[in-house]
Amino acid sequence: MRSHEAGALHGQAGDRGPAWLRNPEDPNRLVPHLWADGVSKVDGVLTVAGVSAVDLAAEFGTPTYVVDEDDFRRRARSFKEAFPDADVYYAGKAFLCVAAARWIAEEGLNLDVCSGGELAVALKADFPPARIGLHGNNKSLAELRRALEVGVGRIIIDSFEEIDRLRELTAELDVTAPVMIRVTAGVEAHTHEYISTSHEDQKFGFSITGGDALDAVRRVLDAPGLELRGLHSHIGSQIFVTDGFEVAARRVLRLHAEIEKELGVALPEFDLGGGFGIAYTTQDTPSTPDDLARGMLKIVADECAAMGIAVPHLSIEPGRAIAGPSTFTLYEVGTTKSVALDGGAARRYVSVDGGMSDNIRPALYGADYSCTLASRVSDAPAVLSRVVGKHCESGDIVVKDEFLPGDVAAGDLLAVPGTGAYCRSLASNYNHVPRAAVVAVRDGEARLILRRETEDDLMTLDVG
Ligand SMILES: *Cc1c(COP(=O)(O)O)cnc(C)c1O
Repeated sequence: MRSHEAGALHGQAGDRGPAWLRNPEDPNRLVPHLWADGVSKVDGVLTVAGVSAVDLAAEFGTPTYVVDEDDFRRRARSFKEAFPDADVYYAGKAFLCVAAARWIAEEGLNLDVCSGGELAVALKADFPPARIGLHGNNKSLAELRRALEVGVGRIIIDSFEEIDRLRELTAELDVTAPVMIRVTAGVEAHTHEYISTSHEDQKFGFSITGGDALDAVRRVLDAPGLELRGLHSHIGSQIFVTDGFEVAARRVLRLHAEIEKELGVALPEFDLGGGFGIAYTTQDTPSTPDDLARGMLKIVADECAAMGIAVPHLSIEPGRAIAGPSTFTLYEVGTTKSVALDGGAARRYVSVDGGMSDNIRPALYGADYSCTLASRVSDAPAVLSRVVGKHCESGDIVVKDEFLPGDVAAGDLLAVPGTGAYCRSLASNYNHVPRAAVVAVRDGEARLILRRETEDDLMTLDVG
């Protein structure tokens, strides 16, 4: 080992990981706000709603997504309670299966789908079609037809072609389609910041500044089978501040007022989108639904008052903020190694039995996660670790930087919180790895809600 001066070494990032990462006094302890309500440690073993991670791994195998059902339901309910006069549409693309659709229905929320497949899941769950919204920038004729046939509550129009398709389909099927028009407010929200630009360089929605939005409104009003309910604006995901919303809401409400005053058309509804951030690591400080409601409802009320228009019926579309924190992924460790870093520090690589096939977000967005040893207590000092998957990509990272006990070894279980949104729904079969199971735990009972894929499942598609 190289000798070094402790003072110089401790100033370097390689030793401590990124600046936000804390070396915990006790790496066995959970950081409570990163975990679902029902999760705790009992004698070092991670436990959810009374069921231990060791038992879950024994019964269902690993990797497995473990959902705290009561936590999922409580988060859904908390948006309903914070926005009592609004419709809350759960964004199904975050995580959808029959069980999740039923929880959403039972908690009184509506559901957004953005493909024929998501619509099929909702219908299989007997989700009331009138409470379903259909999104998508390139909905096929077949998807639109199905949505009209089953009578979805609203279709969010995203292109001029879609207006033509809906005009023809509503005539053919002799139905009226309630629709919203998705507009781009020229505001792009990022974590901790937002960018407000005059151009709208993205695939979704009709540009307000370019005049497309007003043009779309005219064409929809001109289509006999379409009933325009209002405008829709979604500015991004994993947002922590309401500043971006304020600018977006002002721009979209200005268009809303213009339509009402100049075209003489009452628009009863207004959709503010979703994108509310959650805590993946200690660096994230999300707002509660109550905080969001206070901020957003005031912005809308103030803008409407300033423009002299009635406050429309609002809807919001949280996905991640409901599904994300409810779930952790349980992995088993297979191999470990230590790598020397510049300055004499070291990083421990801990390989688990999943990876980018069950969580693509680190590779796709550079997303950060945290992690804990789930199967036992450890007295070993914490060391800077990187949890990686089993795939043939060096970017196959599960948790880029975390302090884990230095004795983590093959056979240990690790749990990664905050994996309920955009993990199973973005899962792939890369390297022909079957997709992981999803297990819901409630009141001491664990129930399989999406079974693990098998090699036979993969082979059924391979027709030689
Ligand atoms: C993805 C999406 C959402 C949900 O975003 P979250 O970050 O999961 O809250 C809401 N509305 C629309 C239109 C979306 O595309």
